[in-house]
Amino acid sequence: MSLSKEQKAAFDINLEKWTKNNECLICGNVKWAVQDDIFMLSNLKATRIYPVVCIVCGECGYSHMFSAVIAGIKSDFKHNTNDD
Ligand SMILES: [Zn+2]
Repeated sequence: MSLSKEQKAAFDINLEKWTKNNECLICGNVKWAVQDDIFMLSNLKATRIYPVVCIVCGECGYSHMFSAVIAGIKSDFKHNTNDD
């Protein structure tokens, strides 16, 4: 699933909440790219999945993931879709 323009803009606004040092832990770069897709993390049994938005350091590729639900991008998502 890709981020719509509105979702990407909303996430960019969300990143403005980044009040701590936003330098990359690896290379010190401060330019981050929001990826166009919403990714899914799952537990090993694939019984729980979590939508995440990824930002990538423009210099070295180090990445951060943010919950798409908490970021307000995927508010209709239910975390637990299967029984354990
Ligand atoms: Zn970096």
